[in-house]
Amino acid sequence: MTTRTPLMAGNWKMNLNHLEAIAHAQKLAFALADKDYEAVEVVLLPPFTDLRSVQTLVDGDKLKLRYGAQDLSSEDSGARTGEISGSMLAKLGCAYVVVGHSERRQYHGENEETCNAKVRAAFRHGLVPILCVGEGLDVRKAGEQVPHTLAQLDGALRDLPVEQAARLVIAYEPVWAIGTGEVATPENAQEVCGAIRARLAELYDSGVAEQVRIQYGGSVKGDNVAAIMAQPDVDGALVGGASLDADEFVRIVRFRD
Ligand code: PEP
Repeated sequence: MTTRTPLMAGNWKMNLNHLEAIAHAQKLAFALADKDYEAVEVVLLPPFTDLRSVQTLVDGDKLKLRYGAQDLSSEDSGARTGEISGSMLAKLGCAYVVVGHSERRQYHGENEETCNAKVRAAFRHGLVPILCVGEGLDVRKAGEQVPHTLAQLDGALRDLPVEQAARLVIAYEPVWAIGTGEVATPENAQEVCGAIRARLAELYDSGVAEQVRIQYGGSVKGDNVAAIMAQPDVDGALVGGASLDADEFVRIVRFRD
């Protein structure tokens, strides 16, 4: 069986300017010992305007922190005012990019087609997409969370070649748990993460399914992370609010302590 390195990613959303970003990243870097980085991959996802600051800090201090962006354009260059391309992110040393966060779907009308185009754009520039999927409260109440989430997955991965699929990160983020303080139970998280892995085996093969890291996201904190990480198909967390508190994020990274 493949051993998947846990991936803890902090989505800062639209918080922290480029000076605050340096202070926050520095605090995290000092708090995380070398052994944390070895056991867990730690990824910062700041706003676009902070990326250069984070890059300078990581390069200058030779930190093992990795970082990425919260979105990218589906296009590589040209007349797309206000957008940022995958090549720009790659040039800034980004390793990851979030695709299809529920806030992008809600406020910017992103759907399976845009997610598919953005996943492809990410891979064109060597970025690993963190593809977000997950159901809203109405879907959860109707008990349709698995088919709903798998339909989002199928759409975003349409015609994606196997060698790219194997590198993906998928974040299962039930929308009702994001920023609400209402975390999914470990069993809720496992049900959908397990179904995602089974679908990857159907769409590709068992090798791909074993390799892909699946995160849970939605009100993850230091005191609930261990139970969620104990689930066999949960390989990490996508953390919003708690990633803005350095001490709390370090507790999440050290979920095994
Ligand atoms: C997120 O923004 O992806 C998220 C999971 O937020 P929070 O941890 O605040 O629920």
